[in-house]
Amino acid sequence: MTQPAQPDLSSLWMPFTANQQFKEHPRLLVAAKGMYYTTHEGQQVLDATAGLWCVNAGHGREEIIEAISTQTRKLDYAPSFQIGHADSFRAAKAVAGLMPEGLDRIFFTNSGSEAIDTALKIAIAYHRSRGEAQRTRLIGRERGYHGVGFGGISVGGIANNRRNFSSMLLPHVDHLPHTHNLEKNAFSQGQPEWGAHLADELENIIALHDASTIAAVIVEPMAGSTGVLIPPKGYLERLRAITQKHGILLIFDEVITAFGRLGYNTASQMLGITPDLIALAKGISNAAVPAGAVAVQRNIHDSIMQASSGGIEFFHGYTYSAHPLATAAILATLDIYEREQLFARARGLAPFMGAAAHQLKGHPHIIDIRTLGLVAGIELKPRPGQPGARAQEVFERCFDQGVLVRYTGDTLAISPPLIVSEDEIERIFSTIGEALKNTA
Ligand code: PLP
Repeated sequence: MTQPAQPDLSSLWMPFTANQQFKEHPRLLVAAKGMYYTTHEGQQVLDATAGLWCVNAGHGREEIIEAISTQTRKLDYAPSFQIGHADSFRAAKAVAGLMPEGLDRIFFTNSGSEAIDTALKIAIAYHRSRGEAQRTRLIGRERGYHGVGFGGISVGGIANNRRNFSSMLLPHVDHLPHTHNLEKNAFSQGQPEWGAHLADELENIIALHDASTIAAVIVEPMAGSTGVLIPPKGYLERLRAITQKHGILLIFDEVITAFGRLGYNTASQMLGITPDLIALAKGISNAAVPAGAVAVQRNIHDSIMQASSGGIEFFHGYTYSAHPLATAAILATLDIYEREQLFARARGLAPFMGAAAHQLKGHPHIIDIRTLGLVAGIELKPRPGQPGARAQEVFERCFDQGVLVRYTGDTLAISPPLIVSEDEIERIFSTIGEALKNTA
């Protein structure tokens, strides 16, 4: 029986999607290779977003496909509770090799959301292992996105993600102010000058609750999903100094920023700031198989190990932690990053992409352009009473012209695979420019 060109769309409840609108005007992808998607109508679409910030090595990489298919024939699945498989240890070692010095204990998950919940639990277990069981309070940040688990939305600061569940979020959570300020920082290139002092709000939160109750502070070094918020110069350094002073763990959510997005292994490496835990996902496996991980300072890991009276040291894990297909994909992906020096490539392209993005300055709809590494955020003035509508129209116009961009609220976010060429970068931003000209 031949498949209909378009399937019945009614059964699928799509995530983070205007389902009803989508189903009236579906956009379906049927194939991907290199920098391009192919739609069900046969259109080639330049991927300016690396899928969802995750396909860093580009689509359809033969080495990853080969690794996954070989693995699934050899070992389709292996439980990872009380038994292991060799690639899980190899993959952990390979991931640890890209982390800042000391963060060399790796716990595998299947997604960023799971990595966040895992990191929060490790932080709390660590304090308990040291006899500080009262340290359970978690500090996130306004506008933070840490996935959609109850832990992640509790420390996260995106109102729409929290609203339905507001009475059920984790207790004992507080939030730092976000760092976005158009009056001070609009059109900054790289890290903005203004805003380091916003980290000092942590001292006020500590004074309010007492450091002895606080387990961890969690932030994205560069906030992606909320609309590309770049850390002011000196801000993360101060968060690190304050957390260290008070014995509070610092967790970086590097689900987006690790694996070359900023031209380095991690944002931590780029900025020279070493947190205690790093949450990872997305680029870890080039998104070919769902995967995530937490990189943990060795002394945190060791403390939890040593506190155990024998048996399982940490009651946490997933059926698919270190799934053989995920570890095969991770190993093949990290190999490509290394062989093709893709992080250095991204670092080299960043000024070109930054300049291409900033050339759009002056368009009346644009109120800010922010760039760091291979990321650009273009914030548009919202239409009165219709937040998000203008960016959605630009997204649709770009898609019709064969360029996939992403938008959250009224900010367009650009984060192409690290294999992007200069010509493709020029096309991305000229298409956005044209779309803006035609958008009311
Ligand atoms: N943390 C950050 C910074 C993210 O950007 C995301 C996803 O976009 C997540 C966590 C959640 O990851 P996942 O969607 O894989 O659960």
